[in-house]
Amino acid sequence: MPTPIITDGTMDRLIKAPRVVLPEPQGLFRDRAARFDALAAHDDSGAYMRFLGQVCRGQAKAYAARPAHAVPEKAVANSRQYGMPPLSAHVTPRDIQWHADLRDVLAEVSAQGQANAQLAAVIAELTSALASDPAKIEAIADRIIAGIPEPDDGPLYPLIGAALQVYFSRLAASLTAEDVGASDVPTVCPCCGMRPTGSLVRINPDRMNYRYLVCALCMTEWNMERVKCTSCEEEKGVAYLTVEVEGRAPADVPIRAETCDECKTYLKIFMQEKDPNIDPIADDLNSLALDMLVDEKGYSRTGPNLLFYPGHD
Ligand SMILES: [Zn+2]
Ligand SMILES: [Zn+2]
Repeated sequence: MPTPIITDGTMDRLIKAPRVVLPEPQGLFRDRAARFDALAAHDDSGAYMRFLGQVCRGQAKAYAARPAHAVPEKAVANSRQYGMPPLSAHVTPRDIQWHADLRDVLAEVSAQGQANAQLAAVIAELTSALASDPAKIEAIADRIIAGIPEPDDGPLYPLIGAALQVYFSRLAASLTAEDVGASDVPTVCPCCGMRPTGSLVRINPDRMNYRYLVCALCMTEWNMERVKCTSCEEEKGVAYLTVEVEGRAPADVPIRAETCDECKTYLKIFMQEKDPNIDPIADDLNSLALDMLVDEKGYSRTGPNLLFYPGHD
């Protein structure tokens, strides 16, 4: 069979699209805060969105407050050579620095906490644990990263999750894309080994129409071809579900659930082309009706949102 000669530039575009895009956390946290604020302005759950905007402002402040400590050379060498995630969240000990990040996030949201007794109690509980029982905080962080939070973790989960995002994204941003080797497991973050919160189809010129999975923890993005299950990598059982959005044709809805009939899972896919300001973390929490719809149809979600305690079945 003759080899097709591609002359339309398709291969050039394939070669140029970056495999891994490391985060720029300062801008991401700031933009996410603005997105939550915008969603709060026309949403039934305005107070909740405003709270999350405040959390993101706390993340931006914490991020700016301290530099990344050095990632061990051996971890980077193993990543370059063998594709092992250099920041592997499941096995790498965390520096105590992330407690300072948590304190900064708490300081930023505490102004709101005064107006809300429940939030004030959560902030007091975390502040006290940071001072006198840091092992408790570490245990919750371990459970969040392992994906097995307990019901008691629920109210503390988003604030601890936010601080972990600051700490891990700071480390990720200190690497270069070349430090992050090609992983054998394309369904988890090549930088820290966590699952993605969702996937984003971008409109940046260098990534136009490419799909990137967005890490729930370190916010690294990595390319995966479209119409492919982000959990089992099968293509044949993939379908898309949306909820109706007033004033938009179904084809123009910017958030879809990408479901897979092979493994009965789903993850949301966010289309920047339909909404350039869409954010895979903020808009995920503003589209929980879609999760309920897909859940009712028997699909399980595969990636967490660290600003949201998922509850239990
Ligand atoms: Zn990651
Ligand atoms: Zn699947």
